[in-house]
Amino acid sequence: MKIGVFGGTFDPVHNGHINAFAETYIGLELDKVIIVPTFISPFKKKTGSTDRHRLNMLKRAVKNYDFAEIDTFELDQQTVTYTFDTLKYLKEKYPDDELYFIIGTDHFITFDKWANADKLHDLAKFVVLDRNDELYNVKAPFIKLNTNIVEVSSTLIRERLKTNTEVRHLMHEEVYGYIKEQRLYET
Ligand code: ATP
Repeated sequence: MKIGVFGGTFDPVHNGHINAFAETYIGLELDKVIIVPTFISPFKKKTGSTDRHRLNMLKRAVKNYDFAEIDTFELDQQTVTYTFDTLKYLKEKYPDDELYFIIGTDHFITFDKWANADKLHDLAKFVVLDRNDELYNVKAPFIKLNTNIVEVSSTLIRERLKTNTEVRHLMHEEVYGYIKEQRLYET
């Protein structure tokens, strides 16, 4: 199987995330995508919501995609986890399958600074989502996927919610409902 892996804080999950993993699923003819929410240390200065809320929103956003599943490995560790450890765990779980770790351009630019950056390529192929062919320097061992990008970030959504500006169109309806119900990101 060809398995996509998509990590992120998803604080909150938005249409840009859904578009990214769904377009990669189509573009690389993946068999499924595993979504891995990152643990955020409670000691780190907080701008967002709790692990439980982030997971609840993610569940609502991806429940209708039968090729997508959530893996709580990083949340379960209850400590900051490196992609290297997550990929080792997934490689053990899926020893005969190929892993494709999906990253946006922001993560590609800082890739060299990731823990065990040189060894990461032994565990997975890294797919960089490129917009308008703007990344000239993506070379093997990275896979560059030219695809459309939905221009939205969690930061933008959090900022808008603080000022009561419209965000409904940027996310799954149930995620929006959850944010309102739980009164997330209001301060
Ligand atoms: P924040 O604004 O809080 O930094 P974010 O919107 O960038 O959050 P993350 O959860 O940090 O979201 O991102 C998870 C992954 O999704 C990363 O690989 C990131 O590059 C990618 N990503 C985020 N937003 C988009 C988008 N609009 N289109 C494509 N990929 C995206």
